Amino acid sequence: MIGSLQITVPAGCMNDCPFCVYRQHATRFRTTWQSNHARWSREIERRIRYAASRVAAIMITSHGEPTININYIRDIMKIINRVAPELTHVEIQTSGVGVDDEKLDSLYEAGIRVISLSVPALHEEDILRIMKVPSKKNYRPLELVSKIREKGFVLRLSIAMTDWFDDYDLEYVMALLVKDWKPDQASFKKLYGADEIATKNYDNLLEDFKKVTRYRKLELLALGAWKYDADGIGIVWNDDCMVADEGEEPRYLILQPDGRLYTRWDTKGSVIF
Ligand code: SF4
Repeated sequence: MIGSLQITVPAGCMNDCPFCVYRQHATRFRTTWQSNHARWSREIERRIRYAASRVAAIMITSHGEPTININYIRDIMKIINRVAPELTHVEIQTSGVGVDDEKLDSLYEAGIRVISLSVPALHEEDILRIMKVPSKKNYRPLELVSKIREKGFVLRLSIAMTDWFDDYDLEYVMALLVKDWKPDQASFKKLYGADEIATKNYDNLLEDFKKVTRYRKLELLALGAWKYDADGIGIVWNDDCMVADEGEEPRYLILQPDGRLYTRWDTKGSVIF
């Protein structure tokens, strides 16, 4: 079985992260048939039907910030709930900027239960600085995190391992997670193609993590990484999120804004139909 269907919501982004992979990709996908909703729905339905028997979960993502286009998310979720009601594990990946009560309620009503919040550091002021979040957005990551929990979502922190992590040891990082952030799950993601801002401390932190005897291995995930239990938080060290080895099954199916399914992010040559 393929890990997940990634649905790419057409949207811009208000942030300017120095490690943004979407801005590095030359491949652009035009949003088609926006003006013809009936045709758009039929085409998307066909792709979701195809994916339904092949994937275990759905991830709503974007080349920008998906929650800017909440109407697209609602429409897609209606189609999923109609043609593939068995696919109930639906997760959204967001920078959190601009996500307020109303948007959280819309996501919950649409059927999304897991929010994967991307952060490049674990101190609020450094998150805003590194992501270059516009000050008028008044983004408060820790406040958002408590709202996400209160509303009953599962909170996953998707931590981009920037050079912020050069200055801290594992004990400090884990204490911040346990005491301040309190996510259900956290994944430490190695950065690729952004050497000047990637931490040089990733391997040391991972090594130290593996030495903590009270942390338990839970299961091997479809993406090839182990999930651990660390003081009640599900932790994944994800050091290979973009690359698929030759001959492997595709890790994802990707529904791009052009309404077509692909197996790779970086090339239109991977189109299925
Ligand atoms: S929030 Fe995401 S899409 Fe926006 S600039 Fe940062 S990495 Fe790129």
